[in-house]
Amino acid sequence: MASNTKMPEWAPEGDCAGFACRVMDGVAAGHDGISAYSGTEEGKKPVVRHRRPQLTAQEYADGVLRGDRAVLGRAITLVESNAGHHIEKAQEVLKVLLPFTGNSIRVGITGVPGVGKSTFIETFGCHLIEQGHKVAVLAVDPSSSISGGSILGDKTRMERLSREERCFIRPSPAGSTLGGVARKTRETMLVCEAAGFDVVLIETVGVGQSETTVRSMVDFFLLLMLAGAGDELQGIKKGIMELADALVINKADGKNKLIAETARSEYERALHYLQPSTEGWVSHAYTCSAMANEGIDEVWKVIGKYREITGKSGVFERHRKEQSIKWVHDMVDDHLRSLFVKHPGVNKIIKDIERSVANGAMPAVAAVQQLISVFECRS
Ligand code: GDP
Repeated sequence: MASNTKMPEWAPEGDCAGFACRVMDGVAAGHDGISAYSGTEEGKKPVVRHRRPQLTAQEYADGVLRGDRAVLGRAITLVESNAGHHIEKAQEVLKVLLPFTGNSIRVGITGVPGVGKSTFIETFGCHLIEQGHKVAVLAVDPSSSISGGSILGDKTRMERLSREERCFIRPSPAGSTLGGVARKTRETMLVCEAAGFDVVLIETVGVGQSETTVRSMVDFFLLLMLAGAGDELQGIKKGIMELADALVINKADGKNKLIAETARSEYERALHYLQPSTEGWVSHAYTCSAMANEGIDEVWKVIGKYREITGKSGVFERHRKEQSIKWVHDMVDDHLRSLFVKHPGVNKIIKDIERSVANGAMPAVAAVQQLISVFECRS
C-alpha cells in the first residue's frame, strides 16, 4: 500500500488492517481547482497553473472575426453572463463586431416536441454545409432554467452536424425570463454572424410565448407539423400558423406519405384564410422527411425565394430595422419591470395591494396608481 494513503474517516473503529478502502492524500490545487503539482521530478518546485488569461474586448472581437472557434465560444459565454462587468465587456465586443453582422439569413424553426425539429435541423444543416454554407444553430428554450438543462440545441441530438467544422451549435442559454433568454440569443446570433456563419437556425419549442419572441428575431419562420395530430395539438398551432412563412409537414415517409400529403392540402387551404405573416409573401404548406432527407432541398429553395422577393420589395431590410427598434423597446420594458419588482417601497406594499384587489376591496386601476406613485417616489 502506498505510504500516502490513510483510512477513510467513516472506517470501522479498532484494528481494521484488513479494511480494503484507503484514501489518498489530496494534491495541492490553485483556487480554481486546477492542480498546482507540475510533474514527478523530486525536489522540483511545484508550478501553479493559472487561469486562462483574460482577453480584452478587441482580442475577443479579433478572434471572432478570424473565425477562431475557441474565442467564439468564450465570446458567447461572455455575452451570456449576467455579471455586471461581463455585460459591460460584452457590449464593448458587440460594438466592434456590429459592422460585421447581418450577413446571414436568420431562420426560426418551431414545432411541438417530437415533431422532428432536431432531426430536421441535422439533415437541413448538413445539406447546407454540403452546399458551402456555414451554419450556426441556436435555441430559445425558456423552460431550460426550470427543467435544469437545455432540451434544445443538445449536441447529442445532432450528432452528425455537431461534428462538422462549418457548424456551430449552442444550446439555449439559461435565464429566468423569456426576455433574458432572448437577449442572449440575439447577441449570440450577432457574434456568430461576425464569425462568418451565413445561416443562423434558431430552434424553439412550439408551446407558450417563445415562438412569438423567435419570430421577432428571424427573417423566416418555419413551422414543422405532424400529419394526423389530434385536435388539441391543432388548437395550439392556430396562432403559431399565422406567424409562419412556411408550414412543413415532417415524417412524410413510409406509410405516412399519403396522410402527410392529405394534411398538406388541408393546411394549404387553411393558410388561404389567414393573414400572411410577411407582407408580399404567400405562405405555403410542404411535406418533408427529415429522416429520409426528402423535401429538404425544397425548403431551402423556398427560403431562397423568400429572400429574393422580400429583398427586392425592401420588406427584408425594413423588417430587420423594425426588429432592432422593437428589441430596444423590449429591453427597456424588461429593465423597467426589473426596477419595479426590486423597488423596496413597492415590495413593502404589493402583497397587501394584491390581497385587496383579490378581495374586491380595491379596484385594479387604483392599485396600479398606488404602486406607480410609490415607485416614482423612489422611496
Ligand atoms: P423534436 O423533439 O421536435 O426535436 O423531435 P426529434 O428530432 O427528437 O424527433 C422525434 C422522433 O421523431 C425521433 O424518434 C425521430 O427519429 C423521429 N423523426 C424525426 N424526423 C422523422 C422523419 O422524417 N420521419 C420519421 N419516420 N421519423 C422522424
